[in-house]
Amino acid sequence: MRRSSSSEAIGLERFAKLGIRRDLDLILHLPLRYEDETRLIPIGDTRAGDHAQVQGQVTRAEVTLRPRKNLLVDIDQDGARMTLRFLNFYSSQVRQFTEGQWIRAIGEVRSGLFGREMLHPRYRLVEPDTPLSKRLSPVYPSGAGISQTMIRVAVRKALQQYQWPETLPESLGRRLRQQAGGMGGSTDSALRLLHAPPVDVSHAALAEKSHPAWQRIIFDELLAQQLSLRRARLSRGTQQAHGLPRLPLPQASEAPGRSDLVAGLIASLPFALTAAQRRVVGEIGQDLALEVPMNRLLQGDVGSGKTVVAALAACQAIAAGFQVALMAPTEILAEQHSRKLAPMLEALGVRCAWLAGSVKDADKRKVRAAIAAHQVDLVVGTHALIESTVQFARLGLAIIDEQHRFGVEQRLKLRAAGWQERIPHQLMMSATPIPRTLAMSYYADLDVSVIDELPPGRQPIQTRLLGAGRRDELIERIREAVAEGRQVYWVCPLIEESETLDLQTAIDTREDLAAALAPLEVGLLHGRMPAAEKQSVMARFVAREVPVLVATTVIEVGVDVPNASLMVIEHAERFGLAQLHQLRGRVGRGTAQSICVLLYQGPLSETGKARLKTMYETQDGFEIARRDLQIRGPGEFLGARQSGLPLLRFADLERDADLVEIARDMATDMLRDYPELADKHLHYWLGGREEFLKA
Ligand code: ADP
Ligand code: MG
Repeated sequence: MRRSSSSEAIGLERFAKLGIRRDLDLILHLPLRYEDETRLIPIGDTRAGDHAQVQGQVTRAEVTLRPRKNLLVDIDQDGARMTLRFLNFYSSQVRQFTEGQWIRAIGEVRSGLFGREMLHPRYRLVEPDTPLSKRLSPVYPSGAGISQTMIRVAVRKALQQYQWPETLPESLGRRLRQQAGGMGGSTDSALRLLHAPPVDVSHAALAEKSHPAWQRIIFDELLAQQLSLRRARLSRGTQQAHGLPRLPLPQASEAPGRSDLVAGLIASLPFALTAAQRRVVGEIGQDLALEVPMNRLLQGDVGSGKTVVAALAACQAIAAGFQVALMAPTEILAEQHSRKLAPMLEALGVRCAWLAGSVKDADKRKVRAAIAAHQVDLVVGTHALIESTVQFARLGLAIIDEQHRFGVEQRLKLRAAGWQERIPHQLMMSATPIPRTLAMSYYADLDVSVIDELPPGRQPIQTRLLGAGRRDELIERIREAVAEGRQVYWVCPLIEESETLDLQTAIDTREDLAAALAPLEVGLLHGRMPAAEKQSVMARFVAREVPVLVATTVIEVGVDVPNASLMVIEHAERFGLAQLHQLRGRVGRGTAQSICVLLYQGPLSETGKARLKTMYETQDGFEIARRDLQIRGPGEFLGARQSGLPLLRFADLERDADLVEIARDMATDMLRDYPELADKHLHYWLGGREEFLKA
């Protein structure tokens, strides 16, 4: 921000908290809503609940001390009275309210003990004929230590100093007007209108953002997003990776030659790949063979078999003489990958290693040395893989499981670990399906492969909703299931405010269940356990030594124990939809009929009800994601960390889907034909925040 900037004097940091770092950001700091100070409502006509501006003469100003300190000011207009009530006030303020003084107040009308009142209204001392405002008054998003007045003053100054440039070339402007009707004016005029709308503007159109001024701003914001994504993609095209060619994938029936690692792995699998798996293996294989870094997201619902696809990609890279890193968000998951993949791959001559936080320092050093000396082909691990002490000899492919759990910085670090100035190919995996509109914007820079088919023989999971009062019946069901040789997960919710409490719940639940189910053994798994202990509990569960496992959400992602066929989720109403879907996906992985019991505690909130109903009604990850998006909105759905993008502030991907499409088309043309204007547009809208997009 420039030194003389308007906001500097009043605390840059406080403004920075609102995302305002430049004067330009002030201009983009658009009102949340408006107050109508253009008209006065006669006091006698106001009703409780109205948001109104009134005017009257002071008849009484009194400080009362009980039940608490209050300043009460009565104003009167033609015999109708309104009480203005203040809980925090200065004594100088009290003195302003001399009898007969005209006051103009704006706020919500309530019906108090003694008739109409307003709590903490905004007010001004006026003459009876002081002119009314000709424009709606903006109410801005604000934060601690910043008043509306401070923001209004700063915005007004910024608007005086700057004119927002027109960045849309004439021809595209014309196209926009044709494709999105009613969008006439310039960005600058739209911004000015939104900061101070004239009286006659439709309030509803402003509130719903359907007003042409809003539409123009939303379009500009989407265009900035599309331009930056497009550009990140183009710049990736100019970057180099090592091409990792492969031998063609044999047909399912053919006996593969042992010389081909990919074919070798396929031959050693106890199952045949599904058609969808074969297709995505093909897509990934083609990308890997190119000298352009792959940036591909592998999507498949929980249980669709992404791991083996990743292993095949790894084989292709390893056969081409490169190293592969497979990173997972938790030790449990990373350890499971390692445990499953290492024996299969080692049998084919692949050298595997394991690196996670819990590995002893001396062993870590050994593994790092082996990685640096290319004595390791595949290293599986957690964040420990991207510590600066890890130096790959020839990293050709980085695979990131459950990518939504990682931040953009972490993915960037893996990219930076390439060899000879070349960037490793990147394969990201996620079971969280992304609805189409989101994919089009946030993930426009990714290629996406979808596994849209589950391995054969899977039966749909039955979902039951059960009130917490019927816990005893459930215990009986568990006993029966175990008697039939099944295994059971019992998940306790995370208690946000207190990790210790969370832990205690899990410990208590385990004890209760162990007592109720005696002599059956009940295991316990939670996030605070030492990694070695977690691993041994998981190992015993996998080996069927423990029939029932009480766990916190540490098992949410990726855990794969096909024999487990009963999942109980306690306090299901406290979980988010994506989490519930992931948890439910821990069962239904074998051929047995699986059941997921959602144990809930009433009374349920509206959102809680909507979520449980969704879980009951559908098992389709895409449908669940779509409803989740409806319930939560895209910002929360993705999380700022995950998207790495400045979240869209004004646009709504569902509501503005049409504009997303237009912006996407225009971004392509603009980058090709008007690169300077594209630069300018990005500078004005994102101002340096684009770096993250290159992940
Ligand atoms: P996710 O996509 O959730 O990561 P996994 O890769 O863990 O799923 O696979 C789930 C289970 O399905 C694993 O036990 C895996 O061995 C098995 N599996 C994967 N592909 C097939 C297939 N084509 N046929 C049968 N079972 C398969
Ligand atoms: Mg998985």
